[in-house]
Amino acid sequence: LEVRERYAAKRPNSAALHCQAVKVLPGGNTRTVLAYEPFPTAMARGDGCRLLDIDGNAYLDLCGEYTAGLFGHTERRIHAALHDAMERGLSLAAVGEAEQHLARILCSRFPSIDMIRFTNSGTEANLIALSAAQVVTGRSRIIAFRGGYHGSLLYYPVTGSSPIAAPFPVTLCNYNDIDGTVAAIRSAAGEIAAVIVEPMLGSGGCIPAEPAFLAAVAEATRAAGAILIFDEVMTSRMSQGGLQERLGILPDMTTLGKYVGGGMSFGAFGGRQDVMDIFASKVPHAGTFNNNVMSMAAGIAAMGEVFTAAAAANLFALGESLREQLNTISDKAGAPLQFCGLGSLATAHFRRGRIDRPYAITPREEALKELFFFDMLDAGVYIARRGMTALSLPMTERDLTQFTAALEDFLDTRAALL
Ligand code: PLP
Repeated sequence: LEVRERYAAKRPNSAALHCQAVKVLPGGNTRTVLAYEPFPTAMARGDGCRLLDIDGNAYLDLCGEYTAGLFGHTERRIHAALHDAMERGLSLAAVGEAEQHLARILCSRFPSIDMIRFTNSGTEANLIALSAAQVVTGRSRIIAFRGGYHGSLLYYPVTGSSPIAAPFPVTLCNYNDIDGTVAAIRSAAGEIAAVIVEPMLGSGGCIPAEPAFLAAVAEATRAAGAILIFDEVMTSRMSQGGLQERLGILPDMTTLGKYVGGGMSFGAFGGRQDVMDIFASKVPHAGTFNNNVMSMAAGIAAMGEVFTAAAAANLFALGESLREQLNTISDKAGAPLQFCGLGSLATAHFRRGRIDRPYAITPREEALKELFFFDMLDAGVYIARRGMTALSLPMTERDLTQFTAALEDFLDTRAALL
């Protein structure tokens, strides 16, 4: 209560905005992930990896727009590309050079993508990839994993089910469970159209897949004649060619989104030529904004100029080093806290022991997570409410010392509660 009161006292403008917002936006927002009690902080502007809220509080931005903010808020090359595109006019209702250019960049970067098509979001990319697998195989069932998130209509909680879900017949398996997953695929082999998996669970807690698990899933999926889809909407930042390139395990189809559009709304699905070829003739794929000039222009600048192989490698290393520091600090304090993840993505888990699959969070863990979130905000560190952090390219080691210092303070002042 005291923490929430201090939070509210520093944010009268955000509180007032929320009071007005709930009259026209259910819950006061249009993205459930941004909702929390007593009201969410509203941001006014961003610069590099820094944010300023509408009450004048400044933050290091470690939320990173849930991984879409890879380039920070003011990447000049992307802004220049957007201005240039605007000058040439919006809404042209035609094919153009830009979409082909972006497609070429992405096909050359991702080892499993021979051909690609664009959408407006990761959700849409996954919905269409799954539907394509159904067309190609003539089957309907999909296999997904508990704790997996593939978009607003493709969310599979650890317990229960999402009240709004796309009507695919789904068999759910446990992440990193080789025997259970292979058995499930084999037992329904003739019915399965696709297996969809994140090579690291993103919103499910930044839990990496064991390479042996992905390899076994890949083999069983192919033996069943089904399509293996890697949802790399979050993980594609792990190298120039995604986590698949880093692991050397290739799917039949890959879905992308988030940062790939340079900060504009974006999604894409691509893969083997014989699978993607269905869109050349027998299967329509429409979408007014699929090739909108802003997303295409920003994507070309972002992926062609800014997120180079060297930039990807540096960011990965920066993230690995940060996570190691965070875990060392937590261990030294003897706290039941660990940061799971890979490269530039991490999530705080308030429990000890190895975490290799998502779990039902306890009320105590949830309370600690909330406390951590508010204490970080108070220290000027903006993280996702669920404890996830996503680094961005403008960040340096120096910026990140603000986070490690805030963690040390948290572990010190809250020691009695941990
Ligand atoms: N897939 C994964 C792994 C994601 O993390 C997300 C979004 O968080 C999506 C798909 C959905 O992408 P979008 O929010 O663009 O619909």
